[in-house]
Amino acid sequence: MELVDIKGIGPKSKDSLNKLNIYDVDSLVRYYPFRYNVYHPIDIRIVDTEDVIVVNAKIVSKPALFYFNRTFNSMTFNAECNDIIVKVKIFNRGYLSKLLFVNKYICLIGKYDKVHNIFNASDIKLYNINGEEIEPVYHVVSGIKRSFLSKCISNALTVYDVKDIVPEFIINKYHLMGENEAVRYIHMPKDINSLKQAKIKLKYEELFLFMFKINLLKFKNQVFSRFDIKNVDDKYLGDITSKLKFKLTGDQEKAVNNIIDDFRSNKRMNRLILGDVGSGKTIVSFIAIILNFKCGYQSALLAPTEVLARQHYDNFINEFGGYGLKTALLVGSLSKKEKEDIKLKLKNGDIDLLVGTHAMLEDDVEFLNIGLVVTDEQHRFGVNQRKALQNKGNSVDVLYMSATPIPRTYALTIYGDMDISMIKEKPSGRKDIKTNVYKFKDMNIISSSIEDEIKAGHQVYVVAPLIESEDETELSDLKQVKKTLEDNFKDDYRISILHGKMKDDAKNKTLNDFKEGNVDILISTTVIEVGIDVKNATMMCIFNAERFGLATLHQLRGRVGRNDLQSKCILISDKETDRLHVLEESNDGFYISEKDFELRGSGDLFGIKQSGDMNFKIADIRKDFKILTQCKIDTEEFIKDNIENDFRDYPYYKELVEKLMDNN
Ligand code: ADP
Ligand code: MG
Repeated sequence: MELVDIKGIGPKSKDSLNKLNIYDVDSLVRYYPFRYNVYHPIDIRIVDTEDVIVVNAKIVSKPALFYFNRTFNSMTFNAECNDIIVKVKIFNRGYLSKLLFVNKYICLIGKYDKVHNIFNASDIKLYNINGEEIEPVYHVVSGIKRSFLSKCISNALTVYDVKDIVPEFIINKYHLMGENEAVRYIHMPKDINSLKQAKIKLKYEELFLFMFKINLLKFKNQVFSRFDIKNVDDKYLGDITSKLKFKLTGDQEKAVNNIIDDFRSNKRMNRLILGDVGSGKTIVSFIAIILNFKCGYQSALLAPTEVLARQHYDNFINEFGGYGLKTALLVGSLSKKEKEDIKLKLKNGDIDLLVGTHAMLEDDVEFLNIGLVVTDEQHRFGVNQRKALQNKGNSVDVLYMSATPIPRTYALTIYGDMDISMIKEKPSGRKDIKTNVYKFKDMNIISSSIEDEIKAGHQVYVVAPLIESEDETELSDLKQVKKTLEDNFKDDYRISILHGKMKDDAKNKTLNDFKEGNVDILISTTVIEVGIDVKNATMMCIFNAERFGLATLHQLRGRVGRNDLQSKCILISDKETDRLHVLEESNDGFYISEKDFELRGSGDLFGIKQSGDMNFKIADIRKDFKILTQCKIDTEEFIKDNIENDFRDYPYYKELVEKLMDNN
């Protein structure tokens, strides 16, 4: 059924609905309200609050309307509420004056000033409310009125049958509401209870589908066995670890052992290394790469930015150059000829490790016998991108690394298709990063603190949210920050600027200069959030810190504190400092992400933007965690019972499985 088949929707309103990403009738009826106004009229005589209240009333005097100018007006009239006469005042509702006549029953929403007997209304309904009214509130864009949207939805619901995708036996088991009823009540709730039941059903449905996909991947992974098991030699492993510059932490060692067990097992590896920033995930993946090489296979290491890819490449050669792996770097900024050359060698097996960015996802990048794919900062890649690399070989082992620490219970659920190794322990000798929140007026304390750090021979990162700001008075862009600092410093320092819009060459050069100690202060946008490792940098200053989530700030801060020196972090903000104090208190990413979650909800789950995989319309992973866990159990059973006969009895899931496996 097309949108224009619905009463009230013509070609023009169809275009407006498109702006809300409503393209068909199903997406229209599934455009759920984001909240509800509940109107419950009370007796005005017992009001003793200055909060917004709702009262039924009858108009007893003709409204008087005053225009201040073309857009601004005010209206007053007397109304009888629960046997007393009050004076009602309302702004900018002039267009209602014709409908507000004497003896008309209305309902007033607003605040009652008992002393002066004035009701300052913010809204008026043109009828009395009996009992309770629950009004849905939708997100709209200009050009679409809420009332119009409501009307379209209610018209659609009279002719459209909403498909229920929750299997019937589950509906019966939990006595869930039918789908048509649930969708109707979510838009037009009869009462609080029906709304609650409707919400439960729609949340269950959404989370069931989400967990179904995850658990399906898990099942498929398990049945997929390698034709070739990697025989890792314990002695060789011992040699690698004994030659390292440092001793692996217990958690790193465990992660390495998990990987070896995966190599040796007959199912392919699909493992996530989840660790706080600076916990040393990279070295674990390097060891995996060497072992994979020793077993006779090529490896690929995928990084989200060129800067990070280059750093991994350099580090690998520095630390493991002696192991004889032919290593190449494939990034966007290479010349065509260089790229061609690498591709040829890769195909012929003359490259053992390819490090790179999404440039290596292209179709013409072919491996001879790839055995391991490592994806760093996995949350920055969409599922499709990750799949593309994995598809370059047969039953490739996959290792993901993520520095967004999330509590284990959540991880087990939302990353349910992966096995997880957690690295909680930090390398020994690391000190907590001393963090303080300052205001802009403390600029001289901040700048002299930076100067102290440089005089001690260290380097400093400064982060600002914007490359360029329109607002001259705002200290939030790179240039303004640079100027302010220079004005405050007593001496001259070597300062460089880095941001995402710079050409790759320029970026690499700037970063290299900083790495080599030729720059004292690097002023940058959040491009440095991801993975950059410069040990001599001991201070991080973040301007307008309130603009970032706690998880992001923690990631940024993680750029310092990478050695045994005492590192510092200064957060500068004139607003919202309460939230920022969490970072003063704690250096534990798992704790911080939990707090961030509490404070900001799951809209931006631990700073993870899951490229559409986790865009829920109604469910909230944290608030609805119970439903989510139930869905995990239910989908596991559902899959187990039906996977062998290809979901014969469930056409919707049969089709879905075919689609998902196609992309695999
Ligand atoms: P992340 O987990 O954030 O990716 P990295 O892998 O970049 O962290 O490691 C951070 C730094 O810690 C690197 O400079 C690395 O060489 C160092 N490192 C890693 N493991 C250890 C260890 N066990 N002991 C000492 N330093 C280590
Ligand atoms: Mg890293």
